[in-house]
Amino acid sequence: MKTIIEPFRIKVVEPIRMTTREEREEILRRADFNLFRIHADDVLIDLLTDSGTGAMSSLQWSGVMKGDESYAGAKSWFVLEKSVRELTGFEHILPTHQGRASERILFELVGGPGKIVPNNSHFDTTRANIEHSGAKAVDLLIAEGRQPALRHPFKGNMDVGALERLIAEVGAASIPLVMLTVTNNSGGGQPVSLENIRAVRRVCDRHGLPLFLDACRFAENAYFIKRREPGQADRPVRAIVREMFDLCDGATISAKKDGLVNIGGLLLLRDANLVRRADELLILTEGFLTYGGLAGRDLEAMAQGFEEVVHEDYLQYRIRSTEYLGEKLLAAGVQIVEPPGGHAIYIDAAAFCSHIPPEHFPGQALVVGLYREAGIRACEIGSVMFGQGGRRPAMELVRLAIPRRVYTQSHIDYVIEAIAAVHARRAELRPLGIIEEPPSLRHFTARFRERA
Ligand SMILES: *Cc1c(COP(=O)(O)O)cnc(C)c1O
Repeated sequence: MKTIIEPFRIKVVEPIRMTTREEREEILRRADFNLFRIHADDVLIDLLTDSGTGAMSSLQWSGVMKGDESYAGAKSWFVLEKSVRELTGFEHILPTHQGRASERILFELVGGPGKIVPNNSHFDTTRANIEHSGAKAVDLLIAEGRQPALRHPFKGNMDVGALERLIAEVGAASIPLVMLTVTNNSGGGQPVSLENIRAVRRVCDRHGLPLFLDACRFAENAYFIKRREPGQADRPVRAIVREMFDLCDGATISAKKDGLVNIGGLLLLRDANLVRRADELLILTEGFLTYGGLAGRDLEAMAQGFEEVVHEDYLQYRIRSTEYLGEKLLAAGVQIVEPPGGHAIYIDAAAFCSHIPPEHFPGQALVVGLYREAGIRACEIGSVMFGQGGRRPAMELVRLAIPRRVYTQSHIDYVIEAIAAVHARRAELRPLGIIEEPPSLRHFTARFRERA
C-alpha cells in the first residue's frame, strides 16, 4: 500500500470554529497583529507549537482514571519509573512538571559563573537556564545545519572538531557537561546521527566530561536514524532509543513532546552524588520524589505515552505526515528548511516575502497573512523573536509545528492550499512596525501595526 494512514480512529472530537474574513480582520486588529494575543477559540488550525498540544490515547485516558494521588510512594509513580527504566536503562528518574524544570535543577547544580556548556543548538529555555546560573551556552552545530536549502540527512549533528577546539581553548575543567539536543528544535527539527552521538561520547571520554541529551524528541530522532543511517534499517526503534540513552550520563526531557502528554517532564541521571543533590532541589521546588509537581494521573498518562511513542507505525505516520506537508509546499514553490524535520516545517520567510526587509518583519507578515487568509496560526522565528536590541538572526523563518495525533490529512491539505494561495498573492503581504514592546522576549506580547 502506498498510502500511510493515521494509525488510530477517533473516539472523541473537539469542534473547531470557522470564522469569516471580516471577523478575522477585526480579531487581528484587536490583537495588534500578534497571534499570541488572540483567543485559541478564534483559530481554525493551530500550528503554533507541538508542545503539550497532542491527543492522548484511550489507554492514556484510562490511565488518568487509575491515577493514585498518594503523596508518597504512589502506585502511579512506580508504573512510570518502570516504563522509563525499560525504555532508557536509567536507574535514577526524577519527575518534573516540564522540561525547563529539569533544566533549572540540572544547571543550578552544574552551572555557574565561568562555566561553559556546549550543545548542537541550545533550545531557548535551556540557554536561558544556563545563562540564569551565570554560565555561558555555546552552539556547535555543523555548518550544513545553518543553510536552509541544503539537504543533509543529519543536519542536527554537532561539529566534533569545534568541540575539540573549544575544550582545548577553555579547558575541560570549565565545561560541566556536553549536551546534544535530539532532534534539534532550534535548527529545524533536524536529527542527530548515532555516529555523531558516539563521536561526541569519545571526545567526552578523552576529557572526562559527562554527556547529556536534551531528549524531548528522542523517538522521532531514533526513527530518523533507522530510516537514514547506514546499518540501522533493521533495528527496532526501541533498540536505537536504548543505545542513544546508553551513550550518555543524563538527560532532560519535556514529556510534552515525545511523552505524548499535555504536561510533564523528566530528569535522568547516573551519578549518585548528583542524584542526591538533585533530589534535594526537586523536593524544594517541584514536589516529593515520587510525583515531582505532577498529579498521579499525569504520571500514568506519561508512562503509557512513553510506550506508545516508540510504536513504529505511529512514528512512520508522524514523520511521513510532516514530510508530506514539506513536499507539497516545495512543489508549490515555497522554500522551506530542507529536508523536512520531525515535528515541524519551517518556511523561509525572507524568500517568501522578498519585498519586506528584516526590520519590517517578513515572518510576522506571513503569520498575519496566513491567519487572515485561512484562520491558521503559525509561529514567527526570526527578527521578532530574536532581533531585539538590534540583533540580526541568521534566518527569517515561520514554523508550522504539527501537534501529535491531532489533525488529519485533510486539515494538512487545507493548510497547503492556504499557503499556496497566500504565496500566489505574496506581494500583498504587508510590512509591519512595532508600536510597543517589553524589555525582553518581545514576541509574546509586542504590539504591531501594518505599514502602507
Ligand atoms: C520544549 C523544549 C524544552 C523545554 O521544555 P518545556 O516542557 O517547554 O519546559 C527544552 N528543549 C527542547 C529541545 C524543547 O523542544
